[in-house]
Amino acid sequence: MAHKLDFPFPIHFVDWPTWPEHVVMHIAQALTRWVKAFPPASCWARVFAGLRLHLHSDLPHGALARRDAIRFHPRLFQQRPAWLAQVAVVHELAHVWAFRAKPRALAWLPIDVLAWRLVWFAWREPGPTRYGRRRWLQPSEEWAETVAAYVYPEYLDHLRRTSEPEAWLGPKHRTFVQRVYQTMC
Ligand SMILES: [Zn+2]
Repeated sequence: MAHKLDFPFPIHFVDWPTWPEHVVMHIAQALTRWVKAFPPASCWARVFAGLRLHLHSDLPHGALARRDAIRFHPRLFQQRPAWLAQVAVVHELAHVWAFRAKPRALAWLPIDVLAWRLVWFAWREPGPTRYGRRRWLQPSEEWAETVAAYVYPEYLDHLRRTSEPEAWLGPKHRTFVQRVYQTMC
């Protein structure tokens, strides 16, 4: 049974009765921050139409995004500080954004066109976080981390204070996100 949460834009929770309250709260806050960074909500109602969220404890990773679904492991929502869960939700939404930004004619291609456009555009500018920093032949994480850093600037502050003094959102990465957003909304 899927439950449609309409705030701030429609999103479906599969097996709704199993979703803990704190998980739904983090997702709702992440979506709210998303819309604040990329208004209006109606744009995302269109871009993310039909997106379904799953909660599974048998995932090898913390989360897995596809064109039509995101699967989350419950441990993703047990981080300290707790708001890092919201950064992770935004990271996964960014993957869905990339899937859905892909021209329909190229949908069959296992290539993240948006992420490749980002690394081409940013060229020598390093990515925002170690997790997302340039992985040749697999730039999807750089795109997702760029969007996460854009929506949650405190994520980079947190990384700089704890483990990654070089974490930053460079002007080219920021500009690229803004351009893609402007063409979609
Ligand atoms: Zn990712």
